Amino acid sequence: MGSEKNQQAQIEPVRLTFESRFKFKCHPGVSCFTECCRGTNIILTPYDIIRLKKRLDLDSEQFLAIYTEPHILEKTDLPVVTLKHLEDGTDSCPFVREDGCILYEDRPTACRYYPLGVASLQHKEGADDEGFFFFINEPHCKGFDESCEWSVAEWREDQGVDLMDEVNAEWTDLVVHKRSFPANIKLTEQAKQMFFLVSYNIDKFRRFVFDSTFLERMPVDEETREKLKTDDVALLKFGVKWLKSILFNPKDPNTAEDITAPEAME
Ligand code: SF4
Ligand code: SF4
Repeated sequence: MGSEKNQQAQIEPVRLTFESRFKFKCHPGVSCFTECCRGTNIILTPYDIIRLKKRLDLDSEQFLAIYTEPHILEKTDLPVVTLKHLEDGTDSCPFVREDGCILYEDRPTACRYYPLGVASLQHKEGADDEGFFFFINEPHCKGFDESCEWSVAEWREDQGVDLMDEVNAEWTDLVVHKRSFPANIKLTEQAKQMFFLVSYNIDKFRRFVFDSTFLERMPVDEETREKLKTDDVALLKFGVKWLKSILFNPKDPNTAEDITAPEAME
């Protein structure tokens, strides 16, 4: 949570590691309770969307339309989505209520990390490329006045970030890898569409895989095929592996030029 503006302003030279220690506690008794769920600019990861759409009983296309806004991740030139705010003057996250987050168990990765930020998912260049952590340090957050002490590793485990990061690992690696590309190497619009499809619109990507000639060019065994029909996480991992092959290995036989744009199959 926390606004992008504040996150960018507060990126400190101190890079936290897994062993770095800090004092923090967030609970309903703090005077600032839920303040960090307003004015946010949360970049959603692919696994965030898989969890959230399931929780809300929506398909990925419906979730994207109702709850997200598209952006371009600076430096990578990749399309990403953020959680849309309420347009009722409060600028709140749509999931916050007086007593907290209504989907707390499935809250996005960035909400779990807070008050830490993760450099690899920041919008701008200043955050740099590596997976280090930093304090967001928003002035309204009173959690730092509490006495509970954590290492970064303990905080991640406590907040269930480990699982989120494990599922997103290859995708994060792809984003970080793209950042290191020279600025003059541009992805085609079709490649960006494919990145967006795999990353965020998993149900549409499934239709693309099964309703086009995709599997003729990317053959998989019968067991994998059956799994990809129903398992979003397996399909995401499969899709990211394929994306890496078309984005970073231009000599691969399955290059972006060979891929029928998903719109064409509708
Ligand atoms: S998803 Fe939940 S924790 Fe995250 S900003 Fe919204 S209400 Fe807060
Ligand atoms: S202590 Fe910080 S994280 Fe907790 S509710 Fe207050 S602003 Fe949000």
